[in-house]
Amino acid sequence: MAGFDARSADEGSPEAQHRASSLWLAQFPGSLTPRPPLAGERDCDVAIIGAGFTGLWTAYYLKLRQPDLRVVVLEREIVGYGPSGRNGGWAIGGLSGSPSAYGCSPGDERVARALRATHDAIDQIAAVVAGERIDCGFVKAGALTLATSAPQWQRLRARDAAAEAVGHETPDGRLLSGAETAAMVDAPGLRGGRYTPHAARIDPARLARGLAGACERHGVTIHERTAASAIEVGRVRTATGALRADIVIRATEAYTTQLRGKTLSYLPLYSLMIATEPLGERVWEALRWRDGLLVDDRHHLFFYAQRTPDGRIAIGGRGAPYRLRSPIDPANERNAEVHARLVATLRQTFPAAADAKITHHWGGPLAAPRDWSMSVNFDRASGLGAAGGYTGHGVAAANIAGATLADLILRRDSDLVTLPWVGHHSRRWEPEPLRFLASRAIVGTLGSADRREDATDRPARRVRLLRPFLPPAH
Ligand SMILES: Cc1cc2nc3c(=O)[nH]c(=O)nc-3n(C[C@H](O)[C@H](O)[C@H](O)COP(=O)(O)OP(=O)(O)OC[C@H]3O[C@@H](n4cnc5c(N)ncnc54)[C@H](O)[C@@H]3O)c2cc1C
Repeated sequence: MAGFDARSADEGSPEAQHRASSLWLAQFPGSLTPRPPLAGERDCDVAIIGAGFTGLWTAYYLKLRQPDLRVVVLEREIVGYGPSGRNGGWAIGGLSGSPSAYGCSPGDERVARALRATHDAIDQIAAVVAGERIDCGFVKAGALTLATSAPQWQRLRARDAAAEAVGHETPDGRLLSGAETAAMVDAPGLRGGRYTPHAARIDPARLARGLAGACERHGVTIHERTAASAIEVGRVRTATGALRADIVIRATEAYTTQLRGKTLSYLPLYSLMIATEPLGERVWEALRWRDGLLVDDRHHLFFYAQRTPDGRIAIGGRGAPYRLRSPIDPANERNAEVHARLVATLRQTFPAAADAKITHHWGGPLAAPRDWSMSVNFDRASGLGAAGGYTGHGVAAANIAGATLADLILRRDSDLVTLPWVGHHSRRWEPEPLRFLASRAIVGTLGSADRREDATDRPARRVRLLRPFLPPAH
């Protein structure tokens, strides 16, 4: 694997197209040649659709816990093609979703347990990365949230107060003064910050593809370039064959909206990223940004950034417009306006890196359920299961979801199977064009609220109008 020269892929070839889909796949040190597709009819015990983190963790834990189980994963493109191979590389704890959406009242012990499970997930990932020797730049150095305006600082403090009110017994981070924050990352105009130790930096494509290799070593079969065209009880159909299985798990997150009858299950939201060229040590010293530390902020359209293993800043954010006729489309993965906004954010927040060349721009769809809360479901009677809806927290959440699905399938009476998102179903989004209008309104209003707050240093009231459509933090 090592020593593969990405430049040797013919321009326009599938390999070159995959490499163009993110910084991470562009740099992946091995061939991306697809594994053989499924051909003909086959039997197995568990069929998994989608080789992102949800599908791969499910397969991994199933084989670890019951080695004689026949587990087959079908992937439409290649392992790590989806957001699992393209994301910001934040493996971070914290609830994906809202306690009230999960039916938890203040003080419910399940909330504290769920939060602890997200913290444990980072350590679970660390253990597998070490045990399976997955070279993915994993460093657990925590995450720092910057507040560069009074409204952002207010939101950070409100988040802590809200967490306390719903009964988080162990706070997952601590507030910092402007000076304490600047000692960790020297950004202009800091009002304060928040640090959590429960976060690790990864290279997502290396983790996804490394995990796929680990799955195969444990006996999982993976077919790439194999799209499931129909998912039925006991069977998955593809263009060239069919997989008969007692249990069928759908792990297709945002792409679920392309399946018949599932269009409104999620709002597919595009998150886009850019990366700089590698920066010199002097720049890192000027920024005071230590390796592995993740950095984001509290704008409504917040940014998230990592110092990559090879010394670049990779920074991302939402705000790409939703397209009514093609909500999921490779054409949505790049956007000049979002690119310009990310470059401006980079230069303003990290001035020592202002002259760095931007070498990569990419993006992908994440899945926002109508109640912004994830779910893990398995119906024993039909053998059908699914997990997703992590709204941008999928790196850690998919690890939990995979371990949980494995326990549900194997009837293991673990702590995981009683976490609040198990058996949760979000209601569907409004039919088009309402979902389109809601999504455009969300992006437009949040962007204009950010501009207003930056100009006035006062909270923008217009965000309240969006409350029925927004996640609980707003
Ligand atoms: C730009 C960006 C940045 C992000 N940053 C972060 C971050 O820093 N931290 C974080 O926690 N989360 C982040 N996320 C979200 C996170 O990446 C996802 O929530 C997570 O990867 C979802 O994993 P998954 O396995 O459920 O789905 P996916 O990674 O989407 O995998 C689904 C797979 O299913 C395949 N598939 C789809 N349809 C079919 C079919 N019919 N047949 C066969 N296969 C099919 C797809 O090709 C894909 O490979 C980010 C997302 C994006 C887009």
